[in-house]
Amino acid sequence: MTCFLCKGEMKQGTTTYMEDLGSCIVIIKNVPCNKCSQCGEVSYSGVTVKRIEEIVSQLKNSLTEIAVVNYSNAA
Ligand SMILES: [Zn+2]
Repeated sequence: MTCFLCKGEMKQGTTTYMEDLGSCIVIIKNVPCNKCSQCGEVSYSGVTVKRIEEIVSQLKNSLTEIAVVNYSNAA
């Protein structure tokens, strides 16, 4: 697999996903991803994207300003 930006080599790893929902910021740690060894571009698999969406939509309802969860421990 190569990076769509710089054609560098994509390597499996984990990253911290962050999304600003306006009223709340969601931070998900240890999200599995492919990371470019050259430019650092990150891409997620379809399954991971779905999972991120699930986690974010659940945390959206929480009243905390900043929600930090671990990918593997999230509800
Ligand atoms: Zn790249």
